[in-house]
Amino acid sequence: MTTPTFSIVAPIFNEAPIIPELYRRIRAVMEQTGEPWELVAVDDGSTDGSTDLLRQLAAQDACVRPVIFARNFGHQLAVTAGLDYARGQAVVIIDADLQDPPEVILEMISRWREGYEVVYAVRSEREGESWFKLATASLFYRLIYRITDVNIPMDTGDFRLLDAKVVKVLRSMRERHRFLRGMSVWVGFKQTGVKYRRAARFAGATKYPLRKMLKFASDAITSFSYLPLQLATYLGFISAGVSILAIPLVIAMRLTGSMAFTGQATTLIAVLFLGGVQLISLGILGEYIGRLYDEAKGRPLYIVREEPDDLAPKTERSLEKTV
Ligand code: UDP
Ligand code: MG
Repeated sequence: MTTPTFSIVAPIFNEAPIIPELYRRIRAVMEQTGEPWELVAVDDGSTDGSTDLLRQLAAQDACVRPVIFARNFGHQLAVTAGLDYARGQAVVIIDADLQDPPEVILEMISRWREGYEVVYAVRSEREGESWFKLATASLFYRLIYRITDVNIPMDTGDFRLLDAKVVKVLRSMRERHRFLRGMSVWVGFKQTGVKYRRAARFAGATKYPLRKMLKFASDAITSFSYLPLQLATYLGFISAGVSILAIPLVIAMRLTGSMAFTGQATTLIAVLFLGGVQLISLGILGEYIGRLYDEAKGRPLYIVREEPDDLAPKTERSLEKTV
């Protein structure tokens, strides 16, 4: 098989009811390009038969190249593996649940042909999401935008096209706790956005429960901002400032015979408040130290049980083996 011009990377975690439709829609869209393409479907430890469905598709169609993980490693690492195995000159990351309509890929490709190296998709509307998801997502994007140094465009997910040059750079960034949409902005290159309507899930329920969302948000913040660490410094200065102002005030009150601020309650509140602030600051430190420790261990980012038959060139993949 000739090397494909386009690679579509789709992370899959228990999406069996969606896989046939995903394949059909992607094939329909990619055939319109008239160029060779591949679907790098990364099975992130599915337990619902998705793995067998992918194996069957691969047996029927050489364009389908499944990468099967030894267990669930999470969405961001599944996408990372997809980028490692993708061989195309342009690589599109797409959610498998068809919330990102594959038809938008054609528009991305035409922007890529105009010379853009990163084409991200901006959600102008989102269908079929709970108000909670919409509110937390909106808060998250605005927070990330404010506290990080890279200007990550708002309301963009991982649905994007990356030129092979960008993919090559991303492959060399082996950080464990990753926020790919931030990393793909951080690298620079010529970037642009296309607008799209985010559809409802084709079938099944979200694979991002609140626990995973919180972990994702803290990975995003810790990998692109030191603000939480600096917060302890700011709070320290504020409470030291307050106590310095309070000392002459209390002396003056005592001298004038005021009985305000007597008793244990005041002391107790002050001690508990400061204790709370200190514990939170320690916890924030812990978040960063834990991540440092993970990086220091240098374990592989993900473990592949089954590789596609048709392997990517050795030079590209040797990274994973050595890192
Ligand atoms: N996903 C994955 N591993 C996980 C969780 C999710 O590969 O641990 C995949 C999932 O199959 C889907 C994509 O990541 O293709 C986005 O997940 P989902 O649609 O559940 O997230 P949401 O759109 O609700 O934020
Ligand atoms: Mg989804």
